[in-house]
Amino acid sequence: MPEKSPPHRVVIVGGGAGGLELAARLGRRYGPQAVTLVDARPLHVWKPSLHEAAAGTMDVQQEGLSYLMLARLNRFTFVLGSMLDVDRQARTLRISAVATPDGEQVVPERMLSYDTLVLAIGSTSHFFGTPGAEQHAVTLDTVEQAERFRLLILQAMVKLNEARRTDPQAKLDLVIVGGGATGVELSVELYEAGHVVSAYGLSHFRPERDMTLTLLEGGPRILGALPERISEAAMARLAEVGVRVHTDCRVSEVAANEVRTADGRSFPASLCMWAAGIRGLPVAARLGLPQNRIGQIEVDARLHTEDPHILAMGDCAAAPWRDGRTVPARAQAAHQQAEYLAELLGARIAGRPEPQKPYVYQDHGSLVSLGQDAGAGSLMGKLTGKGLFVSGTLARLMYMSLHLMHHRAVLGVGRTATLALARLLMRRTQPRVKLH
Ligand SMILES: Cc1cc2nc3c(=O)[nH]c(=O)nc-3n(C[C@H](O)[C@H](O)[C@H](O)COP(=O)(O)OP(=O)(O)OC[C@H]3O[C@@H](n4cnc5c(N)ncnc54)[C@H](O)[C@@H]3O)c2cc1C
Repeated sequence: MPEKSPPHRVVIVGGGAGGLELAARLGRRYGPQAVTLVDARPLHVWKPSLHEAAAGTMDVQQEGLSYLMLARLNRFTFVLGSMLDVDRQARTLRISAVATPDGEQVVPERMLSYDTLVLAIGSTSHFFGTPGAEQHAVTLDTVEQAERFRLLILQAMVKLNEARRTDPQAKLDLVIVGGGATGVELSVELYEAGHVVSAYGLSHFRPERDMTLTLLEGGPRILGALPERISEAAMARLAEVGVRVHTDCRVSEVAANEVRTADGRSFPASLCMWAAGIRGLPVAARLGLPQNRIGQIEVDARLHTEDPHILAMGDCAAAPWRDGRTVPARAQAAHQQAEYLAELLGARIAGRPEPQKPYVYQDHGSLVSLGQDAGAGSLMGKLTGKGLFVSGTLARLMYMSLHLMHHRAVLGVGRTATLALARLLMRRTQPRVKLH
């Protein structure tokens, strides 16, 4: 009997919004011999919900989905560890060792072979060379950073509560740099979290009196990449909750206790959150593939890099879009690219001719969360091509449905419904903000 040839091995690095969906789609069809997912973390958390984790309105431990469980459900192989570098000639990648928090090694460094490598490693914050930003500001790129920010805020509120006993001038000044979706969503979430925390025994802390939230944006309006009507709705909501917004305000330096701007102003900052832009991760540069000026890997309209065995998707890839621009770094794009690549790589695994049609980004609109009960956004009409404005609770529900859609793609309908119901019930036994 002739020997069966080994399957084409697709290795996807990065199990985020795009990579996990791709691994799940391919795994369900072609199984664990053909599909491997590598991620630096054991739990998957959908990145667009990190601002809720940072404010404590979402518990990352509850939210996180085990990659090993997802691998079993969706029939792919999961490898825990960070991609350190890639030998493109030998078609192998080096995966970091896994250690306990005390430094004890559990799994050694390993090599992994691939026939096709898909890079889906996301992005990191861009400080644009601003002095002090990397040193003094907190960012929101990973679950660990969101959790660190949550603890810093919680500690600051508890300390302030103590300080207010003796010092009526004591204040908590929070500065958020960047008026994109992350900065805007985080501002409102922090305002709401402050109110909830003060209700749990911090009788001397009154957020509307003791906490200032300042949002600094370099451009002429917040949410500059979205339609103006969404910016206006967001401005109205931020004004309602007392967030001080400064536009045309370029940050020139972040110091330990204040943020300075190019026009000579300074804003006191007990804590500064940097949410002003993204760039590619340093590890991407080690592959020697062409990158754009913010370090994203250049891909063509079929998401191929210059190396025919390496593809890239999501935030880490610079895919051509329109008017010389690249596809925006959004979960929506990562999701669409996962759908596109599932078809393309499915053909590669099955030994069929690959589809030649290019990936075209479809902008279905944008939704911004403006707290637990409000949102704003636009939905693109398929026939008109124009945006339909939505706001309030409806927009917030639609925003939440995006998260559910991601869960559905990796958990299936039944498990997503069970999880949603379980979380709804859990809310009855827990505070609205994580307090420990
Ligand atoms: C607070 C916040 C709110 C957002 N809100 C929205 C929104 O409302 N709508 C929207 O469309 N977009 C939103 N975004 C943007 C969205 O999250 C990203 O565009 C999207 O997650 C990109 O998906 P990705 O798969 O490319 O990367 P990610 O989802 O970032 O996943 C990258 C994965 O790669 C892993 N990884 C990284 N390096 C390595 C390595 N060396 N080895 C192994 N694994 C590695 C990481 O652990 C991670 O799991 C938001 C982002 C933030 C931070």
